[in-house]
Formats: sequence, C-alpha cells, structure tokens
Amino acid sequence: MKRNASFLCLLLLPLLALAREARPASLPAAEAGCIALTFDDSPNGENTERLLDGLAARGAHATFFVIGEQIEGQEPLLRRMAAEGHQVGNHTFTHRRLDTSGAVGRQELARTEEALRAVLGGGGYWIRPPWGFASAETLREADAPLIYWTLDTEDWRVRNAREVARRIVADARDGDIVLLHDSYGTSVDGALAAVDALSARGWEFVTVEELFARMDVAPETGCLYCRPDQLREVK
Ligand SMILES: [Zn+2]
Repeated sequence: MKRNASFLCLLLLPLLALAREARPASLPAAEAGCIALTFDDSPNGENTERLLDGLAARGAHATFFVIGEQIEGQEPLLRRMAAEGHQVGNHTFTHRRLDTSGAVGRQELARTEEALRAVLGGGGYWIRPPWGFASAETLREADAPLIYWTLDTEDWRVRNAREVARRIVADARDGDIVLLHDSYGTSVDGALAAVDALSARGWEFVTVEELFARMDVAPETGCLYCRPDQLREVK
C-alpha cells in the first residue's frame, strides 16, 4: 500500500512541475480602467435590493434606468440608490420604443421624469431608450443626454451569472458603458462577480455621469452616447 502511494507521488511530481512551468512566472496584470455598469428595467424588488447591498459592500457605483410604472411601491429603493451615490435615469413609463411612438414617446418620458422628480427631486434625468431605439426626432425633443452602451452582456438571454461575469471581465475597456438588467438574479450575481474580479486588478465602477466627468466630456442634451467619447448615429 505504502509502496503504491510513493510510486504515485513519483509519477505525479514531474507532472506537477510541468504544470507549474506551463504557467508564466507572473500573470500579466490587465490594464486597469473605469467603467459604468447600467441596469435597465429597474427597480425590481429583492433583486435590486441585493444588488444595492453588493455594490455598497464593494464601494462600487452604478446607474439604474427606471421604468416609470414600476416606481409605485418601490420608492424606498429609488431613494436608496440616490443616497448611496448611484445615478437614476429614465427608461420611459411603460417601456415603449421611442423611435416610432411620436407624441406617446414624449409623454412616456415626461411621465417618468415627473415621477422621478416626485420621489428624488431634481430633474433632467438622463435617458436610456428602451432597446436603444431612438429617432432624430427623439433626440431633438429630449431634454437630457441619451445613453446607449458599448458592452452588451445579453444578460436577458444568457441567464447565467458566470457567463455574464465572464463577458464583462473579458470585454471591458476603459470608458465602457455596460448593459445589464436588474430584473434577473443571474445578472445581479454576474455583475457583482465581475466587480470582484476587476476590482482586484484595480478597475473602478462609476455612474455614467461620473464616467463623463472622469473622461472630461461635457454631456450634451439630445445626444445619444455609446460612451462619453463615442456618439451613436441616429437616422
Ligand atoms: Zn429595457
């Protein structure tokens, strides 16, 4: 029995040495950067609460684009977002496409802006058009910057926390805006895992507004931004 065990050790040792050699002496540290995680279709009860807990524990900020009709009954979550340094934005009242809805789209934005003002005060809440659809008319009539994204996790389709985290960690570039939804527990877990992985390499997580300030870009009303230094063309 003893002999067998030591034989096994002798067999394994060279293998272990090989495995050690196969890895570089020190892993190259990815260049640290700063990105903005954005969560659409918010707020979503327990998921949002868990996300806020996780972000607070990690000292990370995010941006929440809110559906107006989901505000009632979830006002404390919105107040908590604002109080903890997150940005709150407008994602229409009933999740309508803004490029085809004309006057209805304007009302959708106005109703949500009003609801946000009632809970949080202030005004000029930044806009994330549902599905990213916007027309030249939408932009002309908007009274705030509009925010698209550069990193789409497709979390609504993926529904797998590890894969959501992997996509963020693998694809993040300094200055990116990441699209997520706090309606899925897998997105919450994936986002927090990505924060852990990238924070360990020195990355920072800021609101979209903070990202503009960091990159020294003055946000303009009626522009659709993929990221602070990149506009999205709209027909
Ligand atoms: Zn949406």
